[in-house]
Amino acid sequence: MLEKLMEITKNHHELFKYSIPLIASENVTSYAVRRFYLSDFGHRYAEGWIGKRFYQGCKYMDELEAFAVELTKKLFGCEHANVQPISGVTANLAAFFALTNPGDTIISVSVPDGGHISHDRFSAAGVRGLKVEHYPFDVDNMNIDVDATKRKVEKMDEKPKVFVLGASLFLFPHPVKELVEVAHEVGARVMYDGSHVLGLIAGKEFQDPIKEGADVVTASTHKTFPGPQRAVIMCKKELAKKIDHGVFPGVVSNHHIHSLAGYAMACIEMLEFGRDYARQIVRNAKALAEELYNLGYNVLCPHLEFTKSHQVAVDVSDFGGGDYVAKKLESCGIILNKNLLPWDDVKNADNPSGIRIGVQEVTRLGMKEDEMREIARFIDMALKDKKPIKDIKNEIKEFKSNFLTVKYTFEECPAYEFPKVV
Ligand SMILES: *Cc1c(COP(=O)(O)O)cnc(C)c1O
Repeated sequence: MLEKLMEITKNHHELFKYSIPLIASENVTSYAVRRFYLSDFGHRYAEGWIGKRFYQGCKYMDELEAFAVELTKKLFGCEHANVQPISGVTANLAAFFALTNPGDTIISVSVPDGGHISHDRFSAAGVRGLKVEHYPFDVDNMNIDVDATKRKVEKMDEKPKVFVLGASLFLFPHPVKELVEVAHEVGARVMYDGSHVLGLIAGKEFQDPIKEGADVVTASTHKTFPGPQRAVIMCKKELAKKIDHGVFPGVVSNHHIHSLAGYAMACIEMLEFGRDYARQIVRNAKALAEELYNLGYNVLCPHLEFTKSHQVAVDVSDFGGGDYVAKKLESCGIILNKNLLPWDDVKNADNPSGIRIGVQEVTRLGMKEDEMREIARFIDMALKDKKPIKDIKNEIKEFKSNFLTVKYTFEECPAYEFPKVV
């Protein structure tokens, strides 16, 4: 039985070792982060708030959580931070718990326009019993239409209590300042979900939602931010108590202290290396998009230089659709996902017209613009059947063999080995 478990795990590590990982919501952590993940913190409970726990033995967990809050404030310049949510959806649910009552209305980006499921009624917003309206969307610019939103909000009998910003298909900064004005005029709060772009915000390569006036920022810590899988909520001081109670006892009891220690380590890495890392991510995304465009692909938003984030979106309906393309690329060793685009019906989620590409993980492995152009050519080779799949797979394996180390950390380390602890 042990052999089976070892085999499954080793096979998984090899799959990623020999592939080009382009899922926009994933990353690899450094050994520095992973070491804390293995600490005794992972065996303990720290129920409650810093300095006010329900069990004994929490002295150092209190110190750890306070330190993680301090690092978060330093990195993002927020007034208050709660570092307890165990995932992005949990953070959003906690924020909805704090900012709304069941039956209230919120407004968010729809899923085909790039919004996350947790902003909608069939997920976290629905769990809180919220009604959900969607922003009018400017498809050409892949962004929220501010003027049409103003008109929509004016006409609404029941004004939204929360304006949710941020998305999962997130190419360009959202109009935070403009919508903060609209929201505050109707007594609503602005909640910016920075799950995808937290690492870019930390590296000062994307908009700064806090400076732009968002009341609450929620975010996963494992997408562009290279930490363990969990989340943070940042907010204005006046909302601190509500948010803290929304998280505990709202949606967590224990909150996985080992990954909190890993998160603190990732903050330290980002304070040191975040600027270089984030800058290279955006450069890489643009280079990949441009090369795909030059190869004839329908990359979204050429008039806006394709992207200002880690993501690139491509309409591949001429190549069999997102589902076919994602599976074909997987067979060649390129891992990415199909994605709804604004012109897709949400009921067509099984075969939408798009794919979404994220370059944060390959950037962390040290790839630069030249490698992005090479990846575009691999994608092209696969989709235009220029070579047998087996040959493409071998070429990708060879290409990847030079990029198996995690950079932007204090001591570079293997990315895809299954480390032996004892
Ligand atoms: C990924 C994502 C989430 C969910 O995060 P988890 O950590 O997977 O729960 C929430 N919001 C947005 C915008 C996301 O992209």
